[in-house]
Amino acid sequence: MARDVLCEVNNCKFWANGNKCSAEAIYVVSHKGKQASDSKETDCQTFVPEL
Ligand code: SF4
Repeated sequence: MARDVLCEVNNCKFWANGNKCSAEAIYVVSHKGKQASDSKETDCQTFVPEL
């Protein structure tokens, strides 16, 4: 289980100083069903834009 999530997406409402993620949990998805060939094919589905 991941203990620390570092993230560069600073317009997400869960983003915090120091590239931290303040979400209780995150959900990561693949662009290609349930498998991915490299990290570029994955995304954080928990992202919510900060308004
Ligand atoms: S929810 Fe996802 S996109 Fe948002 S700060 Fe956390 S890891 Fe980054």
